Amino acid sequence: MEIQSLRGTQDFYNERARKFEYLTRALSDVCKRFSFERIYTPVIENSLLFTRSVGESSDIVRKEMYIFEDKGGREIALSPEGTASVARAVIERGIEVPAKLFYIAPFFRYERPQKGRFRQFHQIGVEHIGGDHKYADLEVILLADALLQAIGIDSFSFQVNNLGAGESRQEYIKYLKDFIGQSVDSFCSDCKVRHEQNPLRVLDCKVDSCQKLLEHVKPVTDFLSSEEKEDFESKLAILKEHNINYVVSPGIVRGLDYYTGLVFEVEKDGTSILAGGRYDDLYGELGKKEYPAIGFAAGIERLMELIPNAKEDKLDIYVIFAEKEFKYGAFNLASRLRQIGFQATIDDGESRMKKQFAKADKLNARFVAIVSEEGLANENYNLKDMATGEQEVLNFDEIVERLKK
Ligand code: ATP
Ligand code: MG
Repeated sequence: MEIQSLRGTQDFYNERARKFEYLTRALSDVCKRFSFERIYTPVIENSLLFTRSVGESSDIVRKEMYIFEDKGGREIALSPEGTASVARAVIERGIEVPAKLFYIAPFFRYERPQKGRFRQFHQIGVEHIGGDHKYADLEVILLADALLQAIGIDSFSFQVNNLGAGESRQEYIKYLKDFIGQSVDSFCSDCKVRHEQNPLRVLDCKVDSCQKLLEHVKPVTDFLSSEEKEDFESKLAILKEHNINYVVSPGIVRGLDYYTGLVFEVEKDGTSILAGGRYDDLYGELGKKEYPAIGFAAGIERLMELIPNAKEDKLDIYVIFAEKEFKYGAFNLASRLRQIGFQATIDDGESRMKKQFAKADKLNARFVAIVSEEGLANENYNLKDMATGEQEVLNFDEIVERLKK
């Protein structure tokens, strides 16, 4: 029997591979423009890292984590998200704070595979750690906006909410617990657990009947202290000043435990493509020092669905051999051109000239050089400019000059 890929995993090749590469390059360029530095963390972590940070009541920890015991008896998780690993790395390695970091990495969640939902998927994520919150919040949202714009996604808005911190958050949770408690039997089984463990999470439930029961629930913003309200209002005003499209959405609570204060999400066609928020307690919980922080992550596969195929790179030169005995000569010419930095290739088989031309066309070659007996003897090649159709007989140095233009 042929061995097949695991459910919910994909192979990227040809167009999809090019698109993936284009996207990750474009997104990292924007991060670098904002002075965020790349961080690479391991795919495997101690599973406690996620139970402690993402939270025991989150869907991720309750149902979606890939966990296994390694040969040394340690409980290992395949990372389901990036924020916890970045926090662990900052604390463990003593990375200087304030820190502005980004990652592009695969993540793993045991979910039911469907459109835009995979068991191995990729995220680009950004973390702004230890900075002044007024600027950090603005900078991170401006970066999220710039990332989406850079890849040509332009009609979107940020759904924003403020979960409050400390007392106001506690009061809201108490209110929610009572509110849900009044009709808890009508909620789905997940929400019954959430009601006990983390009532905020009920607001995030995707089951329609649960959402219906929440129709008259008060928004968290009603519970914010006057200071928190003012702070939220002033942040919104600044977003507006920077032409950020947003709507205040009290239903946005995010699926992870560590969020406090500002949270936001961008949806396209009803699906979340980017989500994040402020998490001021996470560092204190994982380490000795407390740092305020804010970040977000966007799903690369979901972004891939929204953009057109990447243009194939133009090949600099395709070297054709007039007869198969000149293949080695063609190989050598291509090889010399590669050594000085040009993208050059030849036919992998022994096709006739016409077919080799067709392949050069397909690969979008700017130039074609033809290696013939006479050419090999005098180091002169016939060079064809594929855009104009013009042909000239040139030596190696002259070909290099043409390619440089
Ligand atoms: P959803 O509500 O769709 O389950 P989420 O709240 O679990 O999303 P986050 O954990 O905040 O999502 O991850 C941020 C982004 O990662 C999402 O906006 C989405 O683009 C992407 N994402 C999350 N889970 C998956 C998955 N299983 N497959 C592909 N992309 C995903
Ligand atoms: Mg999810």
